[in-house]
Amino acid sequence: MINERMHLLGSKPNMIRTLYAYGLQRKAEIGEENVYDYSIGNPSIPAPPAVRARIEELLEEPPEILHGYTMSPGLQSVRQVVADNLRERFGIEATAAQVYMTTGATAALYISVAAITHPGDEVIVNAPYFAEYKVMTESAGCTLVEVPMRESDFQLDIDALRAAINEKTAAMIINSPNNPVGCVYTQQNIEDLAALLVQKEEEFGHPIYLISDEPYREITYGADVPFTANFYDDTIVCYSWAKSLSLPGERIGYVYVSDRMNDAADVFAAVCGAGRALGFICAPVMFQRVVETCICEPTNVGAYAENREILCKMLDELGYEYIPPDGAFYLWVKALEEDDDAFSEAAKAHDLLLVPASCFGGRGWVRASYCISSETIKNSRKAWEALKADYE
Ligand code: PLP
Repeated sequence: MINERMHLLGSKPNMIRTLYAYGLQRKAEIGEENVYDYSIGNPSIPAPPAVRARIEELLEEPPEILHGYTMSPGLQSVRQVVADNLRERFGIEATAAQVYMTTGATAALYISVAAITHPGDEVIVNAPYFAEYKVMTESAGCTLVEVPMRESDFQLDIDALRAAINEKTAAMIINSPNNPVGCVYTQQNIEDLAALLVQKEEEFGHPIYLISDEPYREITYGADVPFTANFYDDTIVCYSWAKSLSLPGERIGYVYVSDRMNDAADVFAAVCGAGRALGFICAPVMFQRVVETCICEPTNVGAYAENREILCKMLDELGYEYIPPDGAFYLWVKALEEDDDAFSEAAKAHDLLLVPASCFGGRGWVRASYCISSETIKNSRKAWEALKADYE
């Protein structure tokens, strides 16, 4: 018999994909230049030339070796490069033994949640949040507990988190720079969170793991992104090169279990077990080899910074309210009515595709992904204008 939950997940794709598919269809009908698709987070800038050069170099290697299996956690040399990179950038004594290569951040998150939870546990997220967190935690038999961020500044609400943590809390997922809001949690905010978690670990007598989802780590507009593992020992970092190197379709990332954790080796063994149980072993080998040499390639944030400026200026002129983003490539825009689904529908009527906050466990906002061409942003002015006029 079909598994009902899987059937539901498969037959009701998430709203972002639905809007994106709608955009493709509309582009075919009315022309690409007439659709302003702010729906999906596909990087609009190409991967650095070094990626192509590395692929060409790799293609010269014997294919039976190049395309062969690696050990389940990945190639030792690549895990070493990741550990060295973490040590050099953040000063943490990272070792290759604690790095597990994955098919992007998605697999890293599934593995992490499965490794450190039991069915019936609770996992806290800060709302609004990347919607797949719910699927991940529920797949592990856990309950997702949503704690709203402070709406005044979109930082972690430490008092609300204090009230939400209980003996069933196994983990918390944080994401900074954040999708969908674009906020970056300050060092003070992370330090306050760490102090709270330490206190709650003592109170309940078990670890509360902090899963730090960091695919946008390099995409910032001047803000410092504190490296969470430097502030809280029970941290598991989930990373992806999807955004930083514009490689979302190549599915490459990693889990790093902090070497500072008391039971680091055991947690890492559970990570390996979760990888095995979920079938996330031996991440794409070509792209393990690509990141091995391209890990220090700078992210081209310039194009996103320019888009951010154009879009913010335009929305200022039109009188929209939004959260000035510190990182990632999303703008969190206040809907002009309480019902963000209805607002997104109203925008759609102008071929302006905005994702409603309801997709992220929020209310009253929409997300605009500005990882698109700056021409599209400029051309979308009339659609934003017409949408505003609908509400006047
Ligand atoms: N986490 C966040 C916050 C994201 O925005 C995304 C993708 O957009 C992911 C995880 C998944 O990343 P990946 O494509 O590497 O699986």
